[in-house]
Amino acid sequence: MLYFNVPPHVGRELDYIKEAVEKHKICGDGEFTKRCNAWFEKQTGTKKCLLTTSCTHATELAALLADIKPGDEVIMPSYTFVSTANAFVLRGAIPVFVDIRPDTMNIDENLIEAAITEKTKAIVPVHYAGVSCEMDKILEIAEKYNLVVIEDAAQGMMASYKGKALGTIGDFGCYSFHETKNYSMGEGGALLIRDEKYAEEAEIIREKGTNRSKYYRGQIDKYTWVNYGSSYLPSELNAAYLAAQLDMAEEVNEDRLKSWRLYYELLTPLKEAGKIELPYVPEECVHNAHMFYIKTKDIEERTALKTYLEEQDIMAVFHYIPLHSSQAGKKFGRFHGEDKYTTRESERLLRLPMYYGLKETDVQYVAKTIKNFYGAN
Ligand SMILES: *Cc1c(COP(=O)(O)O)cnc(C)c1O
Repeated sequence: MLYFNVPPHVGRELDYIKEAVEKHKICGDGEFTKRCNAWFEKQTGTKKCLLTTSCTHATELAALLADIKPGDEVIMPSYTFVSTANAFVLRGAIPVFVDIRPDTMNIDENLIEAAITEKTKAIVPVHYAGVSCEMDKILEIAEKYNLVVIEDAAQGMMASYKGKALGTIGDFGCYSFHETKNYSMGEGGALLIRDEKYAEEAEIIREKGTNRSKYYRGQIDKYTWVNYGSSYLPSELNAAYLAAQLDMAEEVNEDRLKSWRLYYELLTPLKEAGKIELPYVPEECVHNAHMFYIKTKDIEERTALKTYLEEQDIMAVFHYIPLHSSQAGKKFGRFHGEDKYTTRESERLLRLPMYYGLKETDVQYVAKTIKNFYGAN
């Protein structure tokens, strides 16, 4: 069976984990966590990076820092993972869903302004497949209406928009290191903070509402409860796993891009024959090959193709039942404007196997099988 995803394991993960164990430091904020935070700060230019237990938690932390309150409205796409919305619903806020662009599957930046009310507090762009949203326009709107921008960059590590790393463009950026992402620590994430003024409060909320981070740095003698908070810091065991992957960040990215380009090349004839659509990457975006998807004519064709691929031992998947049509989405949120593309496009999308170490022959086999399905060769 050709799996859809194989969690990345690229080099010295086990050595680093052993090192953490032997140094008797396996709780959070040890050497490996510091190393990862520093790596992101250097690599992306963000003012502050804090490793977290997940992207979900990074987004919750961002919602707390943005002071999201009950009744506030937060604008986001409906075509996204549940955590994008949940982080704000937990604060009593209302997700206001806006339609996506069919070309990138990202929030349509031209529909955001019309969804703003006096209750709107934040915009949450989701960089689908590691391809950036139209951030200049989004920042312009945010500035005009004094809104916070929280980037869901769960899929966006190593990708950029006009030369800026995804996750560093808005006020806050959230990465995921779940096993399905390009870089992993099992479960984990990171919060990127653009303005240093939030750094101390972020450290405090992440460390159960205490000033323990300051204490560790020797800046105070005792640590104590100073604010509300939770536990959003990962164990050193997980951070050690991620640290080994960061050593290999370029290699992983190149490897994935190689598979992505090969898929694109091999499937282009089907695109040109009008059978399928392929991903679109705008000029100003550098993507990270987080996924390779195709779009079929409609949901029936997608189901038939998915079944056909399974019969040939290929796992292909789709995802995201649009949040506004889910049980919780109906209860907690609302869709602003017309759902012209969210449902229709999500029903046509199929993700092909994509992971670090995917073999060239496997990509060729998948492409060939898809061509067979469409009766092409
Ligand atoms: C994976 C993902 C998340 C959640 O990440 P976790 O680290 O599992 O919490 C959130 N948003 C998007 C768009 C994702 O792809």
